Amino acid sequence: MNDWIPVFEAANGLEAHTLKGALESRGMAVQLKGEALAGALGELPMDLAQVTLLVRAPDWQRAREFVQAYQQQGHQSWRCGQCGEENDASFEICWRCGSGPGDPEH
Ligand SMILES: [Zn+2]
Repeated sequence: MNDWIPVFEAANGLEAHTLKGALESRGMAVQLKGEALAGALGELPMDLAQVTLLVRAPDWQRAREFVQAYQQQGHQSWRCGQCGEENDASFEICWRCGSGPGDPEH
C-alpha cells in the first residue's frame, strides 16, 4: 500500500509544518499538499495557503488521533481551580495566581 490519505486541513503553512514535524517525530511519514500550488503563485505568502496533510494508510488512525488532540489543545481554555480565572490553552499555569490546570483543589 502506497496510498496517501488526507488527515487534516491546516489553515496555513505554519500550522501544517508544525504538525508535520510533530507527526514525523513520532515516526509517521507526512506529505503536504497545496504548498506547491501556493509557491507557484509566487507572490502570495505561504501563510495564507491552506495545506492538506497526508499520511500513509497504516499511520492514519494514529495521526488522526494526534491531530484531534492537537486541535483541542489549541482551542480550549481552562479555568483555574484556585482563583477561577479563565486561562488561554497556551498558558501552562494560571497567569493570575500561578497554579496549574491539573490542580483540582478549591
Ligand atoms: Zn489562578
